[in-house]
Amino acid sequence: MAHAEKITPRSQDFSEWYNDVIMQAQLADYSPVRGCMVIRPLGYRIWELMQRALDDMFKATGHQNAYFPLFIPESFLAKEAEHVEGFAKEVAVVTHTRLRATGKAGAAAVEPDPASELEEPLVVRPTSETIIYAMFAKWIQSYRDLPLLMNQWCNIVRWELRTRLFLRTTEFLWQEGHTAHATEADAEAEARQMLGVYRQFQEEWVAMPVLTGRKTESEKFAGALRTYAVEALMQDNKALQAGTSHNLGQNFARAFNVQYQTAAGGLDFVWNTSWGVSTRMIGGLIMTHSDDNGLVAPPRLAPIQVVIVPIWKNDEERGQVSGVGGQVKDALAKAGVRVEMDLRDLKPGAKYFDWEAKGVPLRLEVGPRDVAAGQVMAARRVKPAAGGKAPLALADVAAAVPKLLDEIQRELFEAAKARREANSIRGVTRTQFLEFMNGPGGFAYGGFCGSGDCEAQIKTETAATIRVLPDPEFQSPEQPRTCMWCGKPSVAEAVWAQAY
Ligand SMILES: [Zn+2]
Repeated sequence: MAHAEKITPRSQDFSEWYNDVIMQAQLADYSPVRGCMVIRPLGYRIWELMQRALDDMFKATGHQNAYFPLFIPESFLAKEAEHVEGFAKEVAVVTHTRLRATGKAGAAAVEPDPASELEEPLVVRPTSETIIYAMFAKWIQSYRDLPLLMNQWCNIVRWELRTRLFLRTTEFLWQEGHTAHATEADAEAEARQMLGVYRQFQEEWVAMPVLTGRKTESEKFAGALRTYAVEALMQDNKALQAGTSHNLGQNFARAFNVQYQTAAGGLDFVWNTSWGVSTRMIGGLIMTHSDDNGLVAPPRLAPIQVVIVPIWKNDEERGQVSGVGGQVKDALAKAGVRVEMDLRDLKPGAKYFDWEAKGVPLRLEVGPRDVAAGQVMAARRVKPAAGGKAPLALADVAAAVPKLLDEIQRELFEAAKARREANSIRGVTRTQFLEFMNGPGGFAYGGFCGSGDCEAQIKTETAATIRVLPDPEFQSPEQPRTCMWCGKPSVAEAVWAQAY
């Protein structure tokens, strides 16, 4: 085991703390390519668990997976004006198809072969609306072909100069759902449904409470009619957009000529939606739950849910405790628990430290006295209010541990929700808003006049943006009457925050 480094306290430097947690837990690392990251096995396991849960939810709502090319003809991107404007500044462009030797020594011994220049450059997908809807135009003929409900799991590239592991990288992994519908109402229902799927996933799996709502015109997806988002509040009181769902209207259908014959025999453009979540959610998971001892992983997404640590002083004890530990491991594995046993030749304290940094929700210690008493000692990664370790009878372990993991999952969600509410203020005035955003920060609810000018001024002065115009469930009991910034009549309550 590498020598354990100290984690920078969260209160001292949140950004350093976040990086230290990732490095100590071995979730990801920086890559030789600036802006890109390497996802290490434990981090990738979290992504696999996220994928599996979400994929089941997508399929249960009628979607099928497909795969579209990484390369998109440059001209495709230009077909939807708003869309190209939204992505132009971060697109990687492929112009050549091979290298040739320069005859010079060293790293620059090769260069793009001028003879291989592409007639039309290709862009590396920043998102796949254009190429997918070009194919939909081929596949959709009649109203009988609708709705067409697809999803793809892939990587995308949006050029970044600053890197923040899992939050801001040039290449990242995600899923993008793409659907086509006969009517605006069907597309709207789909966009809302998938927002609900994201919410359910974030709350039940990531244990991360989210607000749902609509984005303003200035914050919506380039080319969309309406964008909806799920927004979470991190422990530094900055918001994280953890998923978006767009009603694209007929913008892309018109650009790519996706038409269908209606039941009445006419011809009409389809209505599209797209929706996506990415490896950014792993950043959300880390910043929602973790502490100064390292990663805290919610049990449902923890690569290892339980670690068994046998404790011995001599070989005889080692045989005894590892034998019992092995039985516990088998029983838990049979009960569907992701469990490991740590038989490394290290002091117990060093093992505890290591597994805590890696976020394992539950540790079971087995010493000679526990074996004699027919029990193990259970220690939670996040101590309950009552604190301390609790004995678990060996006969009960397989039944008790899954229940305990469920309880931990619930407690993490409740704690995160309580923290979010404690860091939200409602009915703000302009003065309160400025104090809040220059001070602790968090979610500020207030009236909004609907003007992009107010949004722009607020962003310049405080760096805060409207995260969502919240859905009714999240709106304040009393709706504001005036814009908290300019005093004109309010058209909607808005939630502001500084954001990632
Ligand atoms: Zn205003």
